[in-house]
Amino acid sequence: MAVPKKKTTKAKRDQRRAHWKVTKSEVSKCPSCGAFVRPYHVCIECGKYKGRQVLAIKEETAS
Ligand SMILES: [Zn+2]
Repeated sequence: MAVPKKKTTKAKRDQRRAHWKVTKSEVSKCPSCGAFVRPYHVCIECGKYKGRQVLAIKEETAS
């Protein structure tokens, strides 16, 4: 296994970790119901992904 030649300094280590979560979690809108959905995720509101019904959504009206 490759072994590091030099010990990583505290500064270098901390600089690396400082960039760990720089990107904001982005949100997009569902094309079918308009709800906020995470990209590449199934819409929680209508259960659709890429115009296709993926999840069976339970109706609001309880029987
Ligand atoms: Zn939707």
